[in-house]
Amino acid sequence: MLETLTIRTQRTTASRLALLDPENLEFGKTFTDHMFVVDYCDGEWQEPQIVPYGDITVSPANSALHYGQAIFEGMKAYKNEQGDIAVFRPEDNLRRLNASAERMCMPAVPEELFMQGLLQLIKLDAEWVPNTQGTSLYIRPFMFATDGMLGVRPSDTYRFMIITCPVGAFYNKALRVRFEEKYVRSAEGGAGYAKNAGNYGASMYPTKLAQQEGYNQLLWTDASEHRYIEESGTMNVAFVIGGKLITPALSTSILDGITRRSVLQLARDWGMTVEERKVSAVEVLDALAAGTLEEAFGVGTAATIAPIAVIGYQGQDHTLPTTGPQAFSRRVSDALTAIRTGAAPDTHGWMVQV
Ligand SMILES: *Cc1c(COP(=O)(O)O)cnc(C)c1O
Repeated sequence: MLETLTIRTQRTTASRLALLDPENLEFGKTFTDHMFVVDYCDGEWQEPQIVPYGDITVSPANSALHYGQAIFEGMKAYKNEQGDIAVFRPEDNLRRLNASAERMCMPAVPEELFMQGLLQLIKLDAEWVPNTQGTSLYIRPFMFATDGMLGVRPSDTYRFMIITCPVGAFYNKALRVRFEEKYVRSAEGGAGYAKNAGNYGASMYPTKLAQQEGYNQLLWTDASEHRYIEESGTMNVAFVIGGKLITPALSTSILDGITRRSVLQLARDWGMTVEERKVSAVEVLDALAAGTLEEAFGVGTAATIAPIAVIGYQGQDHTLPTTGPQAFSRRVSDALTAIRTGAAPDTHGWMVQV
């Protein structure tokens, strides 16, 4: 058990809960009443606080704004039929946050600060956690540099915050994606494995071009040859080929997704062959032509599983077979939902009760 940290809490006097319409939630637009804030200076984390959600003041010279010294995380909490709330694999998010922090020369966030901040914030805003099918509380921890100083060097001061948003059922319309053969999201040796802000800013333009061509998102390929698949949009990607689950192996250019990890674990639990290795665009299209490509899907916290319907490659669209209720992607998505909502046993100890 973690020791209980006392977090000074200033409750809102103007709750917005009555305005919440759980049937109409656009992802990331509705925030709960409170947020967690803690500053880092003089080489240590200062007193944490929970305060009403609202705007913050920063120096216009802060190096997060100028040089992108900023990182984030994304995870979800679920409310079961009894009204109990549990968070999915938050310790994994903390480990990844601290791996991102190291890459960006930022201080690590101690476990009790992260976990107590998270749990106490969710407890305070418990009524904001929706409980209808497919809904959850999306949790966004993030850290940014706060020094007001234009030198290009790591900041001495930082702020770590957690904000949360109730999110509705994600409508998993099968995606149209295309291989990216000009731009890159990240390169080996870069910071693609870290959840740092700049990775996302730089991916918007190539994604916009693909969207103008009628695709939902990109299938990023490796930076040196544009031959091997890396990720799909801001998700990891996996394929079922000839009954095997195949996904690009992790590298410094691929983000180590917690959904990816969970999906691979369940596949292994079910006795499925799992291969983490290089997967080329040609291999996937050859498998499609040979009739052995059964499924392709993105995996990430926001959508959990996002099936892919069409893959564009060198100006041509390739339509994937439609999947039935017995498809691996459906079964694994249902299994994850059951674990998260307490309908199935949590045999891997993934859920942390609030
Ligand atoms: C966050 C993210 C993922 C998915 O990670 P999860 O932990 O499963 O949400 C995949 N790729 C990128 C680039 C990401 O930022």
